[in-house]
Amino acid sequence: MDQPHIAPGDILREELRRESRLGLLARPFMEKGELVPDKIVLEVMEKRLRKPDSKEGFILDGFPRTLVQAQMLDQMLAGLNRKIDLVLKFEISDQTAVRRLAGRRTCSVCGAIYNLHGKPPRKKDICDICGGKLFQRPDDKEEVIYHRLRVYRQTTQPIEEYYGCQRKLASVNAESNRREVLSQVLHAIQAL
Ligand code: AMP
Repeated sequence: MDQPHIAPGDILREELRRESRLGLLARPFMEKGELVPDKIVLEVMEKRLRKPDSKEGFILDGFPRTLVQAQMLDQMLAGLNRKIDLVLKFEISDQTAVRRLAGRRTCSVCGAIYNLHGKPPRKKDICDICGGKLFQRPDDKEEVIYHRLRVYRQTTQPIEEYYGCQRKLASVNAESNRREVLSQVLHAIQAL
């Protein structure tokens, strides 16, 4: 079985699209580039990690983002007889982060992701795969990206120490191209 890629950002955006209770609770935080409160994110993740497709392992993306989330994740996984094997930190300059995020475009129909700099669509604002219209996420506007970087430094960066102490943290230089980044990721996995 393929290991699922689980990103609370994706799950929350889907909840928002369906205008569910969780989506409506999360919306004001997401639009401003703030973290959604731990209680909401943990509820979403607990439900997701209990699904049978996570039994053989999973890749978490954008979670945990606070120390409380990291601690609760360990507890949650202990209850499921599982553990985190590896934490990857993708390192880029603020300048690269802003350029990449501000250039991201998503298909409103199939969800495919493009980048105006690295992977542009063949036709402006149109999805190569399904012909759907591309849009920019509201939190990928430049001023919101700067706020997200500040939130990252204040709230997310401290969890590096948490995983560093557990000897689970590996750094990846993500400034380079996709092939080189992938090679570093595979190297970190093989070193386990
Ligand atoms: P992302 O798709 O990972 O960039 O996340 C988009 C937005 O969803 C973030 O800016 C937060 O508002 C929210 N979000 C995603 N993951 C988390 C998390 N682990 N903790 C709190 N909020 C989150």
